[in-house]
This record gives sequence, structure tokens and C-alpha cells, in this order.
Amino acid sequence: MPTNSHPLFGGIEGGGTKFVCAVGTGPNDIRAEVRFPTTTPEETMSQAVKFFKQQEENFGKLASIGFASFGPLDPHPDSPTYGYILPTPKPGWTNANVVGMVRSAFDIPIAFDTDVNGAALGEWKWGKGQGLNTFIYLTIGTGIGGGVFVEGKLLHGLLHPELGHIPLPHDRTKDPFDGVCPFHGDCFEGLATGVSIEKRWGQRSATLPPEHPAWDLEVEYISHALTAYSYTLSPQRIILGGGVGQLPHMLPRIQQRTQQLINGYIKSPAILENIETYIVNPGLGNLSGVLGAIALGRQALSKN
Ligand code: ZN
Repeated sequence: MPTNSHPLFGGIEGGGTKFVCAVGTGPNDIRAEVRFPTTTPEETMSQAVKFFKQQEENFGKLASIGFASFGPLDPHPDSPTYGYILPTPKPGWTNANVVGMVRSAFDIPIAFDTDVNGAALGEWKWGKGQGLNTFIYLTIGTGIGGGVFVEGKLLHGLLHPELGHIPLPHDRTKDPFDGVCPFHGDCFEGLATGVSIEKRWGQRSATLPPEHPAWDLEVEYISHALTAYSYTLSPQRIILGGGVGQLPHMLPRIQQRTQQLINGYIKSPAILENIETYIVNPGLGNLSGVLGAIALGRQALSKN
């Protein structure tokens, strides 16, 4: 078995539809990666465990594992339900002790946080969050969620931020659609997720051309949300990821509309003059998630 003078980390990006697991140390050093569909907690977690066991045979013992998961979840190590998925509409996953399933197979530090907090940490270490002390990573795709990095560390508070579920102005004459959130109907996620675009217009968002009115609504909702975050968290930057968030025709329109909605109230050159570097797409692209999980793993090791 190879000796391990440089620690190697495992990362789990646990998504609602697929899991991505990798071992490596950073963006230029991913040694192995695997993707598989999210099924039951037992089956999915045992696939992750099997992958890491195989990699340990190839590369030696892992130093730690970072697990960045879909939520809601309990990220507080002192809590009795630490490492659990909390009540979720996803069948079978409510109260699944997902960290316990990894811990029973590996006696090494395991870090657990939301997928979006993980992605924020990855962007801070290697992407567009480098050098910043307060910023947001927001993903807009089949779901909407955000990781918040405040004064040099990830924000948890009671559990973790839920940037996707804020209420937004909803003009029902312009948009009579009720929204798709099972908890709130027309919250941000209810109105603007890829699922809601598909239900509202009867076709997949990927098939809608840039001039389709779907995107006018989408720009409006996203820009209102970014305005609210700019006021409440005072981020130095907002990183916009996810399938919808990274559509090339959306970014300039969101930048312009957010600047317009703030209307000069936040007196910072970041917004008044440099909106194109205030709202940006991720530096790590679609690897934000799995690299974020590896970044969580690295952080877990440095804390132990
Ligand atoms: Zn909601």
C-alpha cells in the first residue's frame, strides 16, 4: 500500500438526484471520481463507502471525508441528530443518519454541511471567493439554495441558511402560477426553480430560447432575491451557480436588474460601478460541489 506523506481527502457531493464522490486534494488533483443516482439512503451511502474503500486500496488511507449534502440537515456536531437529513419531501430520506453510515465504515474525521455551504467553501479556497471574507454562493437549478460565508467562515446559526425559501413579491396578474414549493407555494424556489419553469410553461427550461418571456420572469425573481441578500448579509460578492444560474444570457440581465432594484442605496463601488464583478458565475464551474466536499474534508482535518 502506498505511503501517504501528503494527506488525501474524500469528498461526497450528495444531491437529490445524483451523488458524486471523489478523492483528491484540490482542483488539479482529483485522483478518482464516481457518479451514481440517489436511491435509498442505505443503498446510496453503501455505494459511497464502497468507492472510498476501493480508492484506499489504490492510494492508501484517506485523511478525512467531507460530505456536502442536499438538505435540510443537521450540521451541529453537539446535536443528537447531527449528521441526519431532516424532514424532506424526498421519500425515504427523512431522519436518515447519513453521517453515521459513513462513520461506521471509516474511523477518520468526517465533515458534514449543506451542498451549497460546501460549494461556498470550495469557491473560497480555489474559485471566485478567494480573498473575500463575506460572500454568498447561490445555486439555481432543479432547486434553489445558498451557502453563506460570513467574516471568514461558513454561516450555520440555528441550522443553516435557507436562501431558496425567502418570500418574494409575486404579481399574480403578471404571473398567476401558484409555485411549486410543498411548504410555501410561491417562495423564491417555488417560483423560480427549473421545476417551476417547466410546470409554468409546459416545457423544459433547456428548450426555452433566450427571448422567451420565461426568462423575463426569472430575471425578475432572481434579482429581487439578490437585492434582499445584498441588504441583509452585505456580501462582497454573489456567486451564481446551477443550471439556470449559469445560463450565459441570464447573467448580464441579472446584474443590470439587481443594480436597478438597489437603486443606488448601497453606496459601494462593487454595486454602483462594478456590478459585473459583484454578481459572477462560479470559478470552479460544475465542479464547485465535489471540490466543496473535498474542501470540507480538508477543513475537518485541520480542526482535529
Ligand atoms: Zn419554500
